[in-house]
Amino acid sequence: MSINLDRSQVIIREKRLKSIVGYQGTIKDLAEQSQSGCLKNASRGFSQATNCNSGCAQGYLSSITDAAIVNHGPIGCAGDVAGANAGFQWGQRIRGWNQRNVRVINTNMSEKAVVFGGDKILKEGILKAYERFKPKAIFVTTSCASGIIGDDIESTIKSAEAEIGIPVVPVFCEGFRSQIWASGFDAAFHALLTRIVKPAEKKRPELVNVINFVGSGRALITEIFGRLGLVPQFGTQYSSIEEISRWSEAGATISICGTLGGYMGNGLEQNFGVPYVTALQPHGISGFDDWLTKLGETVGKEKEVEEYLAEQKILAAPELEEIKFKLKGKKVVVGMGPSFAHNYIRFLEDLGMEVVWGFSWHYDAKHDHGGCPSCTVELTKKDKDIPVSVSDQQNHEVINLLSKVKPDIFIGRHPGMSVWATKMGIPAIMVSDEYSAFGYQGTIEFGHRIIDALTNNNLALNLSKRINLPYTEWWLEQDPFEFLEQNNKRTESENKKNVAVR
Ligand code: SF4
Repeated sequence: MSINLDRSQVIIREKRLKSIVGYQGTIKDLAEQSQSGCLKNASRGFSQATNCNSGCAQGYLSSITDAAIVNHGPIGCAGDVAGANAGFQWGQRIRGWNQRNVRVINTNMSEKAVVFGGDKILKEGILKAYERFKPKAIFVTTSCASGIIGDDIESTIKSAEAEIGIPVVPVFCEGFRSQIWASGFDAAFHALLTRIVKPAEKKRPELVNVINFVGSGRALITEIFGRLGLVPQFGTQYSSIEEISRWSEAGATISICGTLGGYMGNGLEQNFGVPYVTALQPHGISGFDDWLTKLGETVGKEKEVEEYLAEQKILAAPELEEIKFKLKGKKVVVGMGPSFAHNYIRFLEDLGMEVVWGFSWHYDAKHDHGGCPSCTVELTKKDKDIPVSVSDQQNHEVINLLSKVKPDIFIGRHPGMSVWATKMGIPAIMVSDEYSAFGYQGTIEFGHRIIDALTNNNLALNLSKRINLPYTEWWLEQDPFEFLEQNNKRTESENKKNVAVR
C-alpha cells in the first residue's frame, strides 16, 4: 500500500511516485522511461521562481466551510492566501452563498521565534483561530522556518486540542520538503484521511465522491449521475468537516484530475474500502467516455452508461465535425499540470489540432494505484511522437520555446504563464475552470472558444507591439533547455529538429 496513515507526514511525490520537475524529450520516451523505472529528474543550472507546496495544501483546506487554518511561519509564507481567497470567493459566488474570506491565521514567526522556538506563538495562534472562527477543525500548516528550527508541532497541537476539544491536525508542507507543489494536495488529503474521515457506519452504494476544485460542473454531473441512479458528493473543497468525515460511506470515488485526486482516492480505497476509479480525465470525448465507462464498471452501471453515451454521440456529432473542420492542423502548445497537460494533448489532437509541444509543470512517473499514468500511456498509442518537457513553470524555457515554435495558440492552466504567450502576440486560453471541455457539451463549447480565440487575436497583437519581453536576444537565441542538466539529453541536432520553427 502506497498510502500509510500511521505516519503523521505524507511521503512526498519524489519518493512515492518518482516525480520529476526536469525533462525534455518525447511522450513515448517519457512513458518508456517511466515504465522501465529509469526516469530521472534533470536539474537546472538556472531556475526562475516557482510555487511552494504549502500553497496547494492551504488553498485546498481553506475552502472547507467550517475549518480554520493556522499557518505556522513568517508572514511571507501566507502570501499565497490572497490567491486562495480569490478562488474561494469564486466558489462561493457560483453557489449563491454569502461571500466571506478564508479563515487563515499566520503566526508571524520572527527572528526571535526562530532563535528561541515558535511553539508558544503556535499555541497562541491555534487558540486565537478557535476564539475568532469557532471552527469544527483546525489545520496547522508548517513552513520552512518551523521545519528547520524543529518546532515540536505535534505536542503543541495535542496540548491545544486538549484545551479546545476539536481536531487540530498537522499538515506538513514545508516548502523545502518537495520541489513539487502538488505534494501539498497530498499533505492536505493526508490530514483529512488521518484525522477527519471516519470508518463508515453504513455504506451508501449509490453515493460517488467526486474530487474537484471549484466545482462549476456540479449541476451537470448531478443530472448525468441521476440518469445512472447515482448521487455525486463533491469535495473536498466547499464541504463541511462532517460531510468529509463520511466520505468512507460512498460506493466509489472519482476525480476530475489525476494529479489532484490520486492520494485521496487511493487512500479511501486502501484504508476505507471505497474503490477509486482510475480513468482518463473527462475532457474531450474519448476522455469523458473512458471516465464514465470506468465509473459504470466500478458501480455496476455499465448498461446505463452505454445508453447515455450512445445518445450523446448522436446529438454532438454534427457540431463536432464542424469544429474539427475549422481546427484541423492548427498548431498548439499546451502548458499545464501533468494530468491536465497529457489529457488536453489527447483531447486537442482528437479535435484535429497539431500539438507541437506539451509542457507539464511536473510529472509523476507512476500514480498511487501503481503504473504509469493512463493519460500518458494513451498518448503513446498514437503514431506520432509528441515533443514534451517537464518544467515547474520555468517561464524562460516556455517563452524561449514559444518564440521558436510560433504556435497558432497556447493553451495553459495557470495565469502566470498564459499571460506571457498573450504578450508575445500568441492567442492564449487559460483553462481556470476544471470543468472546461467536460463531456460532450463542454467539448463543443471549448472547441468554439478556441475558434473564437483564433479568429480575433487583436488583444495579443496589440500587446505584443507595446511590450518588451524581459529576456535578452542572447537568451532567445539559445536552446530553450540550455540550463537543463539532463543525463540523457538528446543530441543537439535531435533537439533542434524538435524545436525547429514549424
Ligand atoms: S514554506 Fe518555505 S518555500 Fe514555502 S513560502 Fe514559506 S519560506 Fe517559501
